[in-house]
Amino acid sequence: MTSTIKSDHVHAYGAQDAHQPLEPLAINRRQPGAHDVQIDIAYCGICHSDIHQVRSEWAGTLYPCVPGHEIVGHVTAVGSQVKDFKTGDLVGVGCIVDSCRECEECKDGLENYCDHMVGTYNGPTQDAPGHTLGGYSQRIVVDDRYVLHIRHHKDQLAAVAPLLCAGITTWSPLRHWQVGPGKKVGIVGIGGLGHMGIKLAHALGAHVVAFTTSESKRADAKALGADEVVVSKNADEMAAHQQSFDFILNTVAASHDLDAFLTLLKRDGTMTLVGVPAKAHPSPQVFNLVAKRRTLAGSMIGGIPETQEMLDFCAQHNIVADIEMIRADEINQAYERMIKGDVKYRFVMDCATL
Ligand code: NAP
Ligand code: ZN
Ligand code: ZN
Repeated sequence: MTSTIKSDHVHAYGAQDAHQPLEPLAINRRQPGAHDVQIDIAYCGICHSDIHQVRSEWAGTLYPCVPGHEIVGHVTAVGSQVKDFKTGDLVGVGCIVDSCRECEECKDGLENYCDHMVGTYNGPTQDAPGHTLGGYSQRIVVDDRYVLHIRHHKDQLAAVAPLLCAGITTWSPLRHWQVGPGKKVGIVGIGGLGHMGIKLAHALGAHVVAFTTSESKRADAKALGADEVVVSKNADEMAAHQQSFDFILNTVAASHDLDAFLTLLKRDGTMTLVGVPAKAHPSPQVFNLVAKRRTLAGSMIGGIPETQEMLDFCAQHNIVADIEMIRADEINQAYERMIKGDVKYRFVMDCATL
């Protein structure tokens, strides 16, 4: 396959500062080096982290900011030292495009915890403009160590994109805390991450309870694989599950009362936070932790080997995200809808519309 996009004229969508809507931008990509894979991007998922970052809700956003770390596409060129990828391959890129490769985390395949991890956007780079630019673009060039094989059918490609962040961010803690048969598992918040959490926990054989603030998602949650659904605003429904969970994965993108969920854990249970709201949660009551030797934990995306493991598991079990496709120029409306929890369940940008 030959590419028609020139490396120095890649169309993208991004923002010039925290208070501006996203707009069309022209960006450069480097020529592929010896270890690089050049990818023409077909689709890019829209993660809530994109909104936090581009609006500078977390410290340190660098502008121009081109978000996007749920990237899928085709290889259009490879460097001379690349052995594992060839032109035409279906590939993905998630949240990581580089790391130190030498620390304990990198050696363990947990590049996500490397102190020098380079994010797919907003990470330091030699390339102009001095920081990485993400997947709301036509093309990306990435070192082969951070490129993933996609073994789903090519017709599923758009719905595979969200696996590169929402999939791995839920898979990694579900595996780390050994979710499987005989375990009662809660997934809090049914958005991009949460809906993948339900599908994956179900596929791993756990008894899955979905928690939502949206009555309208009750039926959907069952279809996604939840055995039970709780509308978390309903005190009686919450009370029915006191002290019964082995593990809860909390994906909520906003500050909320963690104690309401901690008390649902049984002795030695763990609640892991993956949501990173702009405003801090109120501190949990220490008593709710010490009383039952409970753990409150966190988890950040996942390493490259476990991302490939998750992609292969999903290909084998025919798991993809539930998506709503958008054109590039619909991105600002999509953000507004996501903030209202109004997406079923991941927006994916058709990068052919850039
Ligand atoms: P999303 O699609 O917007 O889903 C978030 C869900 O949280 C909503 O659909 C909603 O579900 C629930 N929610 C939102 N506001 C709420 C509120 N005020 N009270 C209670 N529930 C609320 O977001 P996402 O892309 O899944 O991302 C979720 C969070 O994870 C974000 O903070 C994102 O930055 C973070 N994230 C972290 C990592 C990591 O590595 N740790 C990776 C990716 C994303 P219901 O309608 O069901 O209540
Ligand atoms: Zn993400
Ligand atoms: Zn490292």
